[in-house]
Amino acid sequence: MKTIERRGFQSIILSYVADGWSTGTVFLRFLGPENAVSAIWARLSSSEMRKSGTCGVEIDGSDVRFEKHVRYVTIPPARLPCGFRDIAMLHPRATAKPGEGTFYVLAQQDVEGPPAEFFPRLNARVHLPMLKEWTPWLWERGLAGVWREEPITRLDGTGDVVAYKVLTEQRLWYAIIVAGMGFKVCPTCGKCVWTEDVHGVMVNDGKEDVLICQECYDKTSRWR
Ligand SMILES: [Zn+2]
Repeated sequence: MKTIERRGFQSIILSYVADGWSTGTVFLRFLGPENAVSAIWARLSSSEMRKSGTCGVEIDGSDVRFEKHVRYVTIPPARLPCGFRDIAMLHPRATAKPGEGTFYVLAQQDVEGPPAEFFPRLNARVHLPMLKEWTPWLWERGLAGVWREEPITRLDGTGDVVAYKVLTEQRLWYAIIVAGMGFKVCPTCGKCVWTEDVHGVMVNDGKEDVLICQECYDKTSRWR
């Protein structure tokens, strides 16, 4: 069992998911005696934490990191009959708040397939035509990757919650949508290869054969 600690105040981690070193925590939920939970929460919500991304709260001896200059959202604590409190904090990009750019969706560890908020949030942030019924393959292809990039990454953590990081670059989702409709996309410029005015050339990029457009082929000697 993992613990979260600040100067002798200790609570138990119920769930913890982080996104690498710079962004840090995506979701954190912990449980403990009221005074310990309050002390840890106050520290995590402090201006020092917002300024530097770390504030001397530790999980199993390592500093908890939050993304700098970001105001995390607290899910109000629940009080258990024994007096313990259960509190959760999450990155604003993991909430349903409208916005732009990368977002996170939380899901139960053992539940497969796209979480319910995936499609509405993707649709709100990527300005391309999408239908709700495409959700299963948008999810599948997002996880599978596009040109060695990962539109959707699964972030495993502690406890029963996982987070999926979803990139919202239009070119990635354009490629997925166009490929889903049976077209090929030039990996260099993002244009559809199989249209009347764009013609494709098969080249080898060192690892595999890829189809690029005539224009990109003509522009660079890299392929010849
Ligand atoms: Zn091209």
